[in-house]
Amino acid sequence: MATSVFDILSPSIDRMCEIYALKLGEITRDTSFVVYLTDFGVPITTFYYVWCIKGSDGIVLVDTGFTSKIPQSQAVRNLTSPVDQLAKIGVDANEISTVIISHLHWDHAGGSSFFPKATFYIQKREFEFFTENPLSKYKPFTKVTYQEGLEQLVKLREAGRVKLVDGAAYIAPGISVMLAPGHTPGLMVTLVNTARGIAAISSDCGHLFRNFEEEIPSSIITDMIAWLESYQRIKGVVSAPDLIFPGHDALMITRYPHVAEGISKLV
Ligand SMILES: [Zn+2]
Repeated sequence: MATSVFDILSPSIDRMCEIYALKLGEITRDTSFVVYLTDFGVPITTFYYVWCIKGSDGIVLVDTGFTSKIPQSQAVRNLTSPVDQLAKIGVDANEISTVIISHLHWDHAGGSSFFPKATFYIQKREFEFFTENPLSKYKPFTKVTYQEGLEQLVKLREAGRVKLVDGAAYIAPGISVMLAPGHTPGLMVTLVNTARGIAAISSDCGHLFRNFEEEIPSSIITDMIAWLESYQRIKGVVSAPDLIFPGHDALMITRYPHVAEGISKLV
């Protein structure tokens, strides 16, 4: 039983899971956007993702992706829906029952409507900040959120389909979550027991592998000190440094075994 929100519950090792990265689209921007105050004027193409965890007890999805209705999505090239991507690996989005939402930015939490039977797991402090705190209505936050999507999650919570997690929790055999603030007030990292040991789907705790290799976050940062503490805790729990998977790195498709168009098997 966790006693502090910063405790870590290692995923059970009696179940082995596989992690798939499903690309949803791409965008080209300045490297300084994804590596804090670094490489101004150097363009980089990053991808949007959801992650599908296949375990012996079924499917757990990390993040919802987003619909083309969301204004920010207009800048995304080659947009595909997570529904179509999941179908390529034999997963019916209509049947998914468990979705972990890493944080409430539009590109991770704007697709709850794709999963009509799912329960969504969100960190309590993330949910409370973005749905209740008036500071979340200022531009630094509204630029990266989607108000209608947040309202939809409030409704889903009223319907009993959002479960708030306060710190660490077990989600399924071989899968647990931990609180890792910094990028947002309550970002949630998913820990997965894999053939190579414990891996972390960090989502936007790092946009790129480079953020972890060089120990520097992206420029989208709410709390730098909290980020450094979260990074150290994640590094301490994974079985190898290269088992921390970031939120937007194109290398997740190009460097790993190809499964289908825009889909790779990370581990
Ligand atoms: Zn993101």
